[in-house]
Amino acid sequence: GRLPTAESVRAALDGVRRRFQEDREGEVPDYIPELAEVDPELFGIAVAHVSGNVFTAGDADHPFSIQSVSKPFVFALVNHELGRDTVRRRIGVNSTGLPFNSVLAVELNHGSPMNPMVNAGALATTALVPGASPEERWEFIRHGLSRFAGRELRLDERVYASESGTNQRNESIARLLDSYGALARDPVATTALYTRQCSVTVSARDLAVMGATLANGGVCPLTDERVVDAGVCRDTLSALATAGLYERSGDWLYEVGMPGKSGVSGGIITVAPGKGGLGVFSPRLDEAGNSVRGQRVAHFLSGALGMDLFAST
Ligand code: GLU
Repeated sequence: GRLPTAESVRAALDGVRRRFQEDREGEVPDYIPELAEVDPELFGIAVAHVSGNVFTAGDADHPFSIQSVSKPFVFALVNHELGRDTVRRRIGVNSTGLPFNSVLAVELNHGSPMNPMVNAGALATTALVPGASPEERWEFIRHGLSRFAGRELRLDERVYASESGTNQRNESIARLLDSYGALARDPVATTALYTRQCSVTVSARDLAVMGATLANGGVCPLTDERVVDAGVCRDTLSALATAGLYERSGDWLYEVGMPGKSGVSGGIITVAPGKGGLGVFSPRLDEAGNSVRGQRVAHFLSGALGMDLFAST
């Protein structure tokens, strides 16, 4: 299929922003103190074409922490580095049907990380990040995410501190995985690195470009730099289709018809393979932890721009 024209994207963005501006459904999360403080009215939308054109509406440059939207990108970077087979042997690609931070999901599956898009699989993925020291491993992630976004990304120290203080559950998941021999590195250090990865500052614009890099076979459309190879993008997108929206992943795929990933800070990406990426920021979440307006915007734009992968017309 063809790329939607610049005019149709602009008109659709304006339309969707007006349509959902007053939509106040959902709640900001309260389990990470720093996220509970955010202005719930913020609403940013960005679309990035694989050509490098970026279109925005609303608060598209407002900074927020990437949270779980980091998961597919770290998965892609680790796959690129270690190779598909090595990662595939350690991390599954089936959905858990349980919340993103479920301890039960680990226990029910005898310690095998079910997929890279929920916390257990993401911790197991982060444990595979190469590097001789914690600083090198952090730099691998920060630099890698930056290359996807086409600009230097940084850590939000306040979010990192806030989340580190309330991280008992993730540390428990890491320790449980470790007890099964499913974690390649120390559980405490792995949880700290994963928490840093979640605390990287991005905007809706960044998410759109990061999504467009995945849509573009791994070449960032802003810098023309190859970040990962095309096979890695394909593998990452298929894993997203299964589990990108936690236990609502089936609902999402049915409504939107494209792979996507949400995070508890209200960010959400949608990827149209070969075409581009959509990034939305809107902090109010549904019960599973997905941005309410983010899902509605993706649904609307998927139809308006003709991006649904399963539609034949
Ligand atoms: N850092 C968050 C956590 O692990 C990310 C969760 C999310 O965005 O789904 O609890």
